[in-house]
Amino acid sequence: MSTLTSREWRLKLRPIGMPSHDSFELATAEIAAPGDGEVQVRNHWLSVDPYMRGRMMDRESYVPPFQIGAALEGGAVGEVIASNDPGFAPGDMVNSMAGWREAYVAKPADVMMQKLPAAGLPPQAFLGVAGMPGLTAYGGLLRIGQPKEGETVFVSGAAGAVGSIVCQIAKIKGCTVIGSAGGADKCAWLESIGVDKTIDYKAVGGGQALTDALKAAAPKGIDVYFDNVGGDHLVAALDAARVGARFPICGMISGYNATTPEPGPWNIISVIPKRIRIEGFIVTDMADMMPDFIRDMASWIGAGQLKYEETVNEGVETTLDAFLGLFKGGNTGKMLVKLV
Ligand code: NDP
Repeated sequence: MSTLTSREWRLKLRPIGMPSHDSFELATAEIAAPGDGEVQVRNHWLSVDPYMRGRMMDRESYVPPFQIGAALEGGAVGEVIASNDPGFAPGDMVNSMAGWREAYVAKPADVMMQKLPAAGLPPQAFLGVAGMPGLTAYGGLLRIGQPKEGETVFVSGAAGAVGSIVCQIAKIKGCTVIGSAGGADKCAWLESIGVDKTIDYKAVGGGQALTDALKAAAPKGIDVYFDNVGGDHLVAALDAARVGARFPICGMISGYNATTPEPGPWNIISVIPKRIRIEGFIVTDMADMMPDFIRDMASWIGAGQLKYEETVNEGVETTLDAFLGLFKGGNTGKMLVKLV
């Protein structure tokens, strides 16, 4: 068993506003051969996700903040190189939270290491459609959104990892789906995977123009709003909601780099006459849905009912730009970094 050399991204400073390269460094670390109970892994794929922005701040949340000077963390898929844990053998493909780096050595429980299930999908699918973003879409839409056949579902961030899966599950459930995304290409792609109507929010503009575009797309109103974006999209959804609408609140990426407090939706009062149910959630709340999720995803993908797209960056040195790209709309489907 031998050591490995690994490049890893570390947090240098806590960014304020949109992060820049100044807050991070790409360092080199020697990865020792595994000690007792440890496993040595070479990562093949890294995930970058919007929630990581929150972990760069020093505040209490559902996951602890990243530490200054330490390697960043995140979803990763890799191959076991050497193992002193009887549950893992060289050649096993594993999922872990030891991302933002090329290789690592760790006790499996410390990095949430799990063998990839044999579901007939490529390994990186377990960072996207068959992983955390997929379960977020599945659980948030089905458990909180409760879409019924014939209803209208509005999805913001619709061309992203979570949004594009939400749109397609809503179609499978017999709904009319309206997706909002930035740019004509993303809207055309959404229509190619079955989304009924799209809103290019960058072309339309914010404020009342976005509300008008949504009302034009959904003249009878919306029954479900799956929120990935917050801000003007939430305002528009409140205005267009029908009585009894459900709003799974998944993310509010439009505010993640804000430097001053974001105003709340001015029309929030409409939840009262419209009896709107607004419910935030974290993907881990949906852990009990995992068996159903894997079963349904494998079946829908296998039957060609659900498609997934990936935006692939190559090399660990591209990881930070891939992450920053999430805030500029640089991805269609899941944003990934390929290492091997
Ligand atoms: P995406 O793949 O959707 O990537 C982010 C996308 O957000 C970009 O591609 C961009 O698309 C859009 N975006 C960025 N800035 C803005 C803006 N200012 N206004 C509108 N859209 C913007 O990421 P994910 O699918 O991984 O995550 C989607 C959302 O779900 C995020 O808010 C994330 O935090 C949340 N999330 C929540 C989880 C939970 O447990 N609650 C778990 C996983 C994700 P465009 O080109 O269309 O602007």
